[in-house]
Parts: sequence; C-alpha cells; structure tokens
Amino acid sequence: MRILISNDDGIYSPGILALAEVAAEFGQVRIVAPDVEQSAMGHAITYSRPLNYKKTPIGDFEAYRVNGTPADCVSLGVSLWSDVDVVLSGINLGLNIGNGCWHSGTLAAAKQGALLKLRGIALSATVEDENADWEELKPWVRKVLDQVLTDYDFPLLNVNFPQHPKAFRWTRQSVRHYDGRLTPGTDPAGRQYYWFTVDPVEETQQDTDRWAIQNGFASITPLRLDITDHEELARAWDTQPHG
Ligand code: MN
Repeated sequence: MRILISNDDGIYSPGILALAEVAAEFGQVRIVAPDVEQSAMGHAITYSRPLNYKKTPIGDFEAYRVNGTPADCVSLGVSLWSDVDVVLSGINLGLNIGNGCWHSGTLAAAKQGALLKLRGIALSATVEDENADWEELKPWVRKVLDQVLTDYDFPLLNVNFPQHPKAFRWTRQSVRHYDGRLTPGTDPAGRQYYWFTVDPVEETQQDTDRWAIQNGFASITPLRLDITDHEELARAWDTQPHG
C-alpha cells in the first residue's frame, strides 16, 4: 500500500512524523507537506504562482516540502508518485470537529485525496504544543488505521483523538453551533484590530464528534464530498416550480 502523508501544521510539525512512523507499519510512506504552517487555510489551492517541490528528510522518510497549501501538497504528491492508495493528513495539533471542519487545512488535504478518487483520512488530536505525548497516542492511531485501512472501503474519514482515549466511536459531525468569533482589541499604536477566537461549545448532542471527544472517545466521522442538502432538494422538487 502506498501512503501519502500531508498536514497543515507544516512539514516540521512533530505530528506528521508521529503519523508517518505508525503509517509505515501499513505500507510505503512518502511525506509531502507545506513548508510553513497552513492551518485554517481550508481547501485553498495556489493558481496565481508556481509551486516548489523540495526534498527534506523527516526522520528516515522520503519527504518533500512545498510552498503551498495542504491541497496543493496532495495534488503534487499524487501526481509525482504513482499508484498512491490513501492520503493521510495530520496528526494535527488541535481538534478538527464540528463546523471547524469547514476551515480545516488538515481535512482539506484528505479531501483532496478523495477528490482524486483515493481514500483520505484526516487525523487530529487535542495537543496544543510540541510537548504532546505522541507515544501515548500512537497505539490509538495504529488501532484506527488497522480498522479503517483493512476492513472498510471509505472515501473520506475525519478522525479526532482526545488527550487520553479510552476507545473509539463512529460519529456524525456536530453542526449545531459555530464557535468562531471575532474579538476586538487595540494594538500598541492604539489602532483597533479584530482577532478570530474560538468560543467553547459546552452543549453537545449524542453521537457527534464533539460528544465523543468530551466523553474521552476517539471519534471517526465518515464524510462525503457531495454537500447537497438532499432533503431540501427533494422538498423543492415536490413543492417548488421549475422556473
Ligand atoms: Mn493545523
């Protein structure tokens, strides 16, 4: 199995090496990732300038850094390495659950794999800095990959790990609340600025990604590329005239 690994934290993030080390137990690994952090860049692609593809050793892995977005990295990685089977993205330093999935570069890299008719898996964890205990997380990454790479022919999965997982649960995306907020402040020169922050969402619905994390479970959410609201479409076809 050929496994292409990317992320949005940048190629030198410790999370990508931790993921590559576990993924190497399942197949041949190559890393193609952004040269600098691209978190919250979503599914942007670079079309207004050319991209570089430069070799950079990461651990013992064949790895390339790209001056582009996570989706750029996957497109380049897939076109420059034949017969890729699956794209793994992460392990992101921070969760990608709920409505945050719309902004996630981690998820976008996996989605780009799915768009290219490969399988894509995004992996994120409740770790905020480089002191994270990757060794504690690795058995859980192994457990999830073992389940989904061998048993199940999915197109796109979003996986999130709490700090100390006790099991994993299949979940749906929690979309009830949006937790992004712009907070005003003043810079040292007295000018007003606005900074995106995240409001904690306390209330959760059972069986969602957020519920799983709050209850100590690793969360696996199958996603699709078709964002059509099929219920609304059926209702419109039933009730609305075609104009
Ligand atoms: Mn990130």
